[in-house]
Amino acid sequence: KKIIITLDGFSSCGKSTLARQLAKELNYVFIDSGAMYRAITLYFIREHIDCNNTEQVKRALSEVNLSFEYNPLTGQSDMYLNDENVELLIREMVVSERVSEVAALKEVREFGVAQQQQMGIKKGIVMDGRDIGTTVFPDAELKIFVTADPAVRVERRFKELYEKNPAITIEEVKRNLEMRDYVDSNREFSPLRQAADAVVLDNSDLTKAEQLQIALQWARE
Ligand code: C5P
Repeated sequence: KKIIITLDGFSSCGKSTLARQLAKELNYVFIDSGAMYRAITLYFIREHIDCNNTEQVKRALSEVNLSFEYNPLTGQSDMYLNDENVELLIREMVVSERVSEVAALKEVREFGVAQQQQMGIKKGIVMDGRDIGTTVFPDAELKIFVTADPAVRVERRFKELYEKNPAITIEEVKRNLEMRDYVDSNREFSPLRQAADAVVLDNSDLTKAEQLQIALQWARE
């Protein structure tokens, strides 16, 4: 029987890597909810949307069309914003710097959550994010709360970003993760929380293969 699996946690603790591997093993659909908030943020940046101006925010959201499309070159789904592949652009620091502010807006959350719930109508999905087990799918069969030591998370994210941009510094990455974790945990609407019925997976000392085995076992229980 196919189920819904949610993965929540702080920034850069390996949620999407695990979610993607889980989906592959189980033949489920993987949905990166953070990519959706990043694509919305990219649109807000391009259109110079003022987050304090509700009318502007609403108009911008009415112009945003999000979709995931399979990329045969990578074997993964890419994020599309109004039919443009923005998969690489949304990972850049300019977007990371703004995404938590945009994702905290009431209108943006309603927009994101509604689309994510729509994608879950057909079971057999793995979705990662911050509020998936609490707000998007409170009835999910398996909820995993992923954690890792802050130092480990900074190191991992730094390595990832450094490959694409050698000008990036550890300090910059650390500041961004701390800022996002703070804003994501303290916002008014569906803040980052561990669901009461979530199982905790601390992967600080686990390899990717090891954490996958643990999660697979939970999924098959
Ligand atoms: O998962 P990722 O780090 O790419 O998410 C980027 C940002 O999107 C997070 O820092 C958070 O502000 C926002 N987000 C959210 N709710 C989710 C997923 C992501 O608010 N379910």
